[in-house]
Amino acid sequence: MYLVSACLAGINCRYDGQNTKVSFIEELVRSGEAIAVCPELLGGLAVPRDSCEIVEDGEGNAKVVSKAGKDLTKSFEDGAQKTLEIAKVIET
Ligand code: SF4
Repeated sequence: MYLVSACLAGINCRYDGQNTKVSFIEELVRSGEAIAVCPELLGGLAVPRDSCEIVEDGEGNAKVVSKAGKDLTKSFEDGAQKTLEIAKVIET
C-alpha cells in the first residue's frame, strides 16, 4: 500500500483549488493500491488558501509562512504528524 499526495491523485486540494493529477497515481488510488492524503488539509488549512514557503529566521530555525505573512508552522507540523500516523497504520 502506498501513501500518495492527494493533489497528484486528482483531488483539488492545492492552495489554489486545483490539482496536479498524474494518471498513474490516480489509478493507484482507484485500484486500492494507494491512499491519498493532503497533509495541509489534515493540518486544518482550507481550500483555497495562501501559498506558503519555508523561511529561516536567521537563527537557524525554519518556519512555514503564508504569502500574507502568517506563520502556519503549527498547521504544517500537525498535518505532517497526522500523515505519519496514517502511514504507520497502513504499514502494519
Ligand atoms: S500538502 Fe496537499 S496540496 Fe500540498 S502537495 Fe501535499 S497533497 Fe498536494
